[in-house]
Amino acid sequence: MELSYWTSRWRKGKTGFHLDRIHPLLIEHSPRLELQPEDAVLVPLCGKSLDLTWLADRGFEVHGVEISEIAVREFFEEQGLAFEREQKGPFTLYKAGRITIWQGDFFKLQQNWLPAPAAVYDRAALVAMPPAKRGKYTRKVMKLAAGSTRQLILTFDYRQQEMPGPPFSVPFEEVKRLYEGLFAADLLVEKDRLDKVEHFQRRGLKSRFIEQAILLTPVKSVK
Ligand code: SAH
Repeated sequence: MELSYWTSRWRKGKTGFHLDRIHPLLIEHSPRLELQPEDAVLVPLCGKSLDLTWLADRGFEVHGVEISEIAVREFFEEQGLAFEREQKGPFTLYKAGRITIWQGDFFKLQQNWLPAPAAVYDRAALVAMPPAKRGKYTRKVMKLAAGSTRQLILTFDYRQQEMPGPPFSVPFEEVKRLYEGLFAADLLVEKDRLDKVEHFQRRGLKSRFIEQAILLTPVKSVK
């Protein structure tokens, strides 16, 4: 997926991945991130997710990263938040209260620009990456995540041959393998949601569409 694929989707309003409510699995499983007030939470590929607001309302310092300027502007507009802007390297930072969105290419983010995140929240980020980019993405997350970072990952397990991504099928076993060595993976919950995704059924999906919530905990310090 080239960046232009995503910026063009935002331009055309083809953003079916956006939810108009807080993700129920974030609400249910965020305690497993063991966060303290003021902890920094990194949200890669954040779109204009309402989850950013929910995390900030709980007292965390939220750092989203998103390539589309339209997404970022719509986020602040729709949330009624006045933002300030500044430039950092190739990124434009949009800040309002405890929310900062780094508008730019996630792969260009440098570890020393951000506070060390206590957690990473990945909803529709890893599954936005085609197979060839997945390792690069997880290596980048591992670089940005200091030794004590936990991750909550929401992913999908379906038969890739039935439907092209995104969202791609990145099942638990693959997530586990991608983060092996630095993180231990726990499958918290999984649920088949095939009946909820008629738009994917129209694209060929027919066997299953399992949503999985995965917790990653660091197994050793990364320095
Ligand atoms: N997490 C969000 C959006 C998921 S869709 C949600 O839950 O709604 C994936 C998002 O990643 C899109 O908004 C796309 O514009 C953004 N994106 C894709 N590649 C990116 C990259 N390399 N850097 C930053 N953002 C990217």
